[in-house]
Amino acid sequence: MCSLELCGASPSKPSVAMFLRELTEPTSTQKGIGRVSSETLKKAGITTVADLLLHIPRNYEDRQTVVPIAQAVAAGIAANTVVTVITHDYIGRGKNATLKIFIEDESARAALLCFGRNFLRSALVPGKRYFLYGQFSYKYNELQTSAFETEPYTQNPAIFGNILPVYPLYGSLTQRFFRNVIQAALRNYAPDIENELPERIVEKYGLEQKSRAIRLVHFPGSLEQAEQAKKSLGYEEFFYLQLVIKRRAKKLKASPRHSGKIGAGLAAKLEARLPFGLTTDQRKVLAEIRDDLESGTPMMRLLQGDVGCGKTLVAFIAALFAVEAGEQAAMMAPTELLARQHAETAASMLEPLGVRVALLSGTVAPRMRARLLEALACGDIDILLGTHALFSQDVKFKRLRLVIIDEQHRFGVLQRLALVEKGELGKSPPDMLLMTATPIPRSLALTVFGDLDVSTIRTMPPGRKPVETHLARIGNEEKVYSWVSREVKNGRQAYFVYPLIEQSENLELKDAQSMFHNLKSRVFPDLRLALLHSRLPEEEKKETMDLFVGGKIDILVATSVIEVGVNVPNATCMVVEHAERFGLSALHQLRGRVGRAEHQSYAFFIYDKELTEEGRSRLKAIKETTDGFVIAEKDLSIRGPGELTGVRQAGRFKLVFVDILRDLELLKTARADVEQLLEDDPGLIDPQNRVVRTVLDRVPPFSEETAAGG
Ligand code: ADP
Ligand code: MG
Repeated sequence: MCSLELCGASPSKPSVAMFLRELTEPTSTQKGIGRVSSETLKKAGITTVADLLLHIPRNYEDRQTVVPIAQAVAAGIAANTVVTVITHDYIGRGKNATLKIFIEDESARAALLCFGRNFLRSALVPGKRYFLYGQFSYKYNELQTSAFETEPYTQNPAIFGNILPVYPLYGSLTQRFFRNVIQAALRNYAPDIENELPERIVEKYGLEQKSRAIRLVHFPGSLEQAEQAKKSLGYEEFFYLQLVIKRRAKKLKASPRHSGKIGAGLAAKLEARLPFGLTTDQRKVLAEIRDDLESGTPMMRLLQGDVGCGKTLVAFIAALFAVEAGEQAAMMAPTELLARQHAETAASMLEPLGVRVALLSGTVAPRMRARLLEALACGDIDILLGTHALFSQDVKFKRLRLVIIDEQHRFGVLQRLALVEKGELGKSPPDMLLMTATPIPRSLALTVFGDLDVSTIRTMPPGRKPVETHLARIGNEEKVYSWVSREVKNGRQAYFVYPLIEQSENLELKDAQSMFHNLKSRVFPDLRLALLHSRLPEEEKKETMDLFVGGKIDILVATSVIEVGVNVPNATCMVVEHAERFGLSALHQLRGRVGRAEHQSYAFFIYDKELTEEGRSRLKAIKETTDGFVIAEKDLSIRGPGELTGVRQAGRFKLVFVDILRDLELLKTARADVEQLLEDDPGLIDPQNRVVRTVLDRVPPFSEETAAGG
């Protein structure tokens, strides 16, 4: 989600659906791109010609519609007009003199201030006519502009009369740079871009041919043309997304399996050992899961339930069903921290029942890893927990029955699908249980996941007190600090969360590192503090977390690494500084780290004086409600669903041309078309099919950093 651990911008990869695979030539080989620009492009995630072509304009400048100066000033927009140069003049003397050119068009007289552009003296000749584009305003009793572009008045102007793309810029790269290199790339490569959509679809909607659509997105003949081109390409994105989803759903349906009664002996044993009883909703969901497991087709179920409602336990019991059937389960979490915590909980709960659990993460040593994989392959491990490392190529299960994905919204849609594909290798596909604290509207669930069953936990375990939420302005944090101090003296623990790991030159924000030192030396000299963020070595993170869990640390100063899943019931204070920098769900997740036991808990959201409208509504929402479902709805209305569904996640599956909420109708259309096509031509779902393969090939590698935030 939109957590704000600003540890390096995550480069946005081009959409998976955009099939431009042949254009993998590095940008650096392109004419007009030198070493420095190439480096800057790389930092922005633009490394190939395809990336360059998918660097789409954020806007367009209309140099077609004539807007005389007077009219432009009245409307507060740029003038686009034909002017005659009257005279030249200079402001100031000598070397520092600035050229000032008086011009007029049909509507007004005005002055061009040529700061640093005295060379325009010879380009703009008195008495001659020029096309001019510029933003004029009244100053010192005259109309002026210093931001303008001109071109000699001819019958065939190069720029005037066109629609110009306005690109997102990086570093010192200019609009002119992007226009030039993209134009060159289009000239050299666009003819090679093949149409991938089935011809009848292209005809049905009168879509643009792909190579033309790409060209028109950058250099359209009119604004309408740009829209039309975007729609064509957007349709294609949805089409591929739906194709992959449908293909998966079909395959599941088409793989009937032997199943039957699932014993619940192990589950009953676990329940008997628990210090508490399951909640009604936990029971209900487990019954649904058991039905699925006993049915003839694999389960595809989303379990949603607010932070702290006890999803982990449900997951473990579901895993026990699989184990009891003599098969294996895998549970994946988005961060190493959470995976390790799950593994530890699983070990203490399940090993006494004779169930063998293991943890596989990216940092397991090679020798250990080899042994672990061997045990897994011969069935000596029943439940494997871990990060995405679970699904690397060499991980082979003996009989993988159930895949559980915790905090599923942290993974991209296609990421999830790719993981499932792994589990399928050669065997009947595993049952899937996706878990999330961020509920998804039904219509989106259908369109984004295909056919997915949804289970919901609404009740909290008994005895929980709602977390008391307080807002405080920066400057008033002393009160919060003394509250925390009192809680710690009563034996409780606290989290402090900051939006940055370390001091940033560009942002005036408190950061975890500096605040850790500050809090430790100045505010809480008698207490035990520790620092936790994603850039620390795994070993150190583990140690710190262990100490915090064991009560050996009073205050954990952290970034949003602790946002998901972390469970330390004795912690009762969550202090988030610069709360305005966090998304609503992130705030809710953070607050969910406390109030996990019978102790009254507190969340303090400290915010900066300067709040955006959106920041204000987020804080208001978080203060007013503790219900995750209500919060998810508010979140949806504040910023749209992309983030909720995990579809529009930077670095993974980024929809370039469409937005799920705005273009929901187009998405539904694409979905219906895919369904129809699959009926007519089941070959489309053949994994050997070029289109399908391409889409799968473009699933980018997973990185925990993007999962953990940023
Ligand atoms: P989440 O749904 O956010 O993943 P967890 O699974 O981490 O929540 O559970 C939060 C806490 O609630 C844990 O400490 C867990 O042991 C406890 N818990 C789970 N189920 C129950 C229950 N039925 N009664 C009491 N406590 C429970
Ligand atoms: Mg959880």
